Amino acid sequence: MKLSVPQEAAEGERRVALVPEMAKKLSASGVEIVLEPGAGEQSHVPDAAFEEAGASIAAGEGLSGDVVAKVAPPSADEISKLRKGAVLIGFLAPLTDGDTAQALAKAGVTSFAMEAIPRITRAQSMDALSSQATVAGYRAGLLCAQELGRFLPMLTTAAGTIRPAKVLVLGAGVAGLQAIATSRRLGAVVHAFDVRTAVEEQIQSLGAKFVKLDIGLEDAEEAGGYARALTDEEQQRQREALADVIADMDGVISTAAVPGRQAPLLIIEDAVERMKPGSVIVDLAAETGGNCELTEPGETVVAHDVKIVGPINLPASMPDHASQLYAKNIQSLVELMIDEEGGLALDFDDEIIAGACITRDGEIVHDGARKAAGLEEKASGTAEEKASGTAEGQDEKSGSADGQNEDAETAPDRAERGAERGSGG
Ligand code: NAD
Repeated sequence: MKLSVPQEAAEGERRVALVPEMAKKLSASGVEIVLEPGAGEQSHVPDAAFEEAGASIAAGEGLSGDVVAKVAPPSADEISKLRKGAVLIGFLAPLTDGDTAQALAKAGVTSFAMEAIPRITRAQSMDALSSQATVAGYRAGLLCAQELGRFLPMLTTAAGTIRPAKVLVLGAGVAGLQAIATSRRLGAVVHAFDVRTAVEEQIQSLGAKFVKLDIGLEDAEEAGGYARALTDEEQQRQREALADVIADMDGVISTAAVPGRQAPLLIIEDAVERMKPGSVIVDLAAETGGNCELTEPGETVVAHDVKIVGPINLPASMPDHASQLYAKNIQSLVELMIDEEGGLALDFDDEIIAGACITRDGEIVHDGARKAAGLEEKASGTAEEKASGTAEGQDEKSGSADGQNEDAETAPDRAERGAERGSGG
């Protein structure tokens, strides 16, 4: 089987789907690998390093494989270059980008979305949502520190004592926990809030304080570990209560999300107005509508003398390690798709293969993607359940699994170990 890797074409996308270490492992499994020249350049991987790992470099071949591995969703032009019957693996935004799914189905491509890989223990090494959220959370912590005109740690100097900065992290999923860990390492006093009460212990284990809002909200965790969308009334109470907490903070890093939906609005203008001048909000949810009312995606705006940063595609801003982790996710998934000789052998009875598949035989087969494309669902189970891997029969999910409830610093190591297990190696 030939696996090809193009140079990413999307604006600002600096990651690459494979790095030499994983190319070497796949080569050893019998996979022939070809990359577009310069595919790894933005991640600081020269072509020669891929060649040393047993891959070949050929102009115009990046989209020619039996299997094509990508990072960003393909453009119409890229889809037109995929051959009928080819397999495409990458981020495809299946719950929101119905047009791409339609185009892939029409092109006869069998596509697999990294977002739709079930979050079960066996698939941890393939969990690109987690690996890239780890990068985003870390970068968000750094951005917050960088944009503040204040120290994060407490300092006692001859010129006086500096009090530590207070940082609030909203949403303590994978990205939020990493933002907590990063801000803590930089010396901030960190508070964190989530609607899932199960994260209280994880937040505390990272040295942060769990914020309890007295709004009569029961635990909002649904089966599978994800948060449910709050009702309008609950959201209103939450926003008002949070405004009091936010007013006392130097920095806020917001990461709250509900799969397949617009990000919940948590920070209203009144809350921004009540912050101290010079405070900073980093809104990681900028791409999906923002957790802050004043966020502009891809921009930094200043309102009421508060800086509101709305970063887009933060993982691409740290391409070397983001690509390394992503390549491990890709390698683990490809290992699941091949036989002992390295030939393509897709087993649609495998819940990971079936769960991640978006298009097949000229059709959109993923319910969430069908909904996004305006089609009727094919099977039982809600779109969110399918996309987030929380459908029936997936009770294997570990919830606060590896990398969630301990210092997030060691998550990549655990991901690495998990990958060895996951690939049967
Ligand atoms: P996510 O990106 O979907 O959401 C980020 C966080 O926002 C979540 O913690 C969510 O509870 C929170 N949130 C949603 N609405 C909110 C609101 N109104 N106010 C405050 N916070 C709000 O989440 P994620 O990082 O992808 O992880 C979600 C779950 O999946 C977690 O339970 C995590 O432990 C679990 N998970 C499991 C595995 C695995 O088993 N392999 C891997 C990764 C994550």
